[in-house]
Amino acid sequence: MSKQKQLLPEGFVACPSCNHDNKIELVNVYTTVDPKVDPTGELPNVYVVSVLKCQCCDEMFEVRTRRRAFCVVDP
Ligand SMILES: [Zn+2]
Repeated sequence: MSKQKQLLPEGFVACPSCNHDNKIELVNVYTTVDPKVDPTGELPNVYVVSVLKCQCCDEMFEVRTRRRAFCVVDP
C-alpha cells in the first residue's frame, strides 16, 4: 500500500529551515477556531492550518491562513 504524497506548487511557501520551496509536502490540513475572536464580529475567527514537511531537510512546520467564520448569520 502506497500513500501518495502531495507536494505544494513551487514557490508557494519556503521551508523556514533550508529555504527550499520545491519539495514541500502537504502532510495535513485542519481548521481551528481562535477563541479570542468574536464569531459574530467583523474578523474571521477560523484558521486553516496546513501542516507541511520539507523533503530536503525533514523540517515540519505549519502555515496558518485566516478564513471567514463558517457560522454565518441567517439572512
Ligand atoms: Zn527544508
